[in-house]
Amino acid sequence: MAHAEVPLSRSLTLPMEEIADGIHGLRIGFVNVFAVAHANGSWTLIDTGVPYSAGHIRHWAEHHFTAPPLAILLTHGHFDHASGAPQLADIWDVPVYAHELEAPYLNGQQEYPPPNTGAGGGLMSILSPIYPRGPIDLSGRLRLLVGTVINTWEMPEWQILHTPGHTPGHISFFRPADQTLLAGDAFCTTKPESFFDAAVSQPPELHGPPAYFTSDFPAAARSIRLLARLKPRVIAPGHGKPLAGLDLERKLALFSEQFARETGDGSSWPERRDQTKRSA
Ligand SMILES: [Zn+2]
Ligand SMILES: [Zn+2]
Repeated sequence: MAHAEVPLSRSLTLPMEEIADGIHGLRIGFVNVFAVAHANGSWTLIDTGVPYSAGHIRHWAEHHFTAPPLAILLTHGHFDHASGAPQLADIWDVPVYAHELEAPYLNGQQEYPPPNTGAGGGLMSILSPIYPRGPIDLSGRLRLLVGTVINTWEMPEWQILHTPGHTPGHISFFRPADQTLLAGDAFCTTKPESFFDAAVSQPPELHGPPAYFTSDFPAAARSIRLLARLKPRVIAPGHGKPLAGLDLERKLALFSEQFARETGDGSSWPERRDQTKRSA
């Protein structure tokens, strides 16, 4: 069973537009995208939202920046993170980077495996068979990142970390100078099976990756442990609110161990979990 979750105080949440130095977030429906500004005035877009998000992202980005980004980087190729990429890359005439293990899902070759509808419960899981699974075809724009800790000039000051488990080529972004982590779907700060409820007023909590689409839970647990060992002080996920606070480091370590205990035994799918109410 993978129902590890660590409840957090609401006081840890940050506004999306002021996450950390130079980092702007935009929530579109249930998913977040991020613009990362660099010291020389250039910037990079992280993720591109669900279908029909491109216009909204462009408008938001052009409100903050006068020039196109250096590049678009995708944490992974799921439809809720990659759908705006073809259109935005064309509008701005920029490359789209993803990890090489994500390439088959982004160059039109392969669909992701069917979602596990029993995982996690909740509306998102019930709806998951109708989600597009790709393949998105970015082949003309796609550039591949290779390795486990990657540096590119389009993300100066940042380490790009291969954090597989949710998908084979999932990546996260870490800035050592202020210990800021953009976690993608490596883990969430809300219950991923109830994203729509989260829009109302759910207190934040540390929670595993969206279960209905996660392909390898033991790998996901190893990735969360790797991220916890970085001791991030600011965390901005693909789903849920960005967080900061002194307590965060300890809570993430705790969550990482809980999640590893529940998933590190090699079982590939968590059982359906019961909904339990928790207060912050
Ligand atoms: Zn995903
Ligand atoms: Zn996602």
